[in-house]
Amino acid sequence: MSRHDKTTINYNETFICAYCGRTITPPESGGEHRNHCPWCLWSRHMDLRPGDRRSGCRGLMEPISIWVRENKEWAVIHRCSKCGFIRQNRIAGDDNEVLLFTLAARAMTMMPFPADKTLETIHMKSVNGEQL
Ligand SMILES: [Zn+2]
Ligand SMILES: [Zn+2]
Repeated sequence: MSRHDKTTINYNETFICAYCGRTITPPESGGEHRNHCPWCLWSRHMDLRPGDRRSGCRGLMEPISIWVRENKEWAVIHRCSKCGFIRQNRIAGDDNEVLLFTLAARAMTMMPFPADKTLETIHMKSVNGEQL
């Protein structure tokens, strides 16, 4: 790969998001590597291990869910749209909060079963002292 290859991403430098096309500048706080776009939250499959940039895939990674860690820190779960690789990434201070919220709420707003009935059942069982 050429050193002048513009598709190579160094997340501590300014780069263009491959998904939304916005220009991304390094995080103001510095330190942490940016591993996804703060605007659209999409990432790119660059690593075999976090930060090593050794994956040859380079597929776009879709933000598919939020994982709340034990310390209540949020992580975005990314899935590579090319090879299916799944990875979690810490959120950054300037990530798009509306999108993060939408991602976290997605499962609750797209129930595969009728939510009213389910909540009713849980309530009835707890009233009757049944095991859930
Ligand atoms: Zn983007
Ligand atoms: Zn991939």
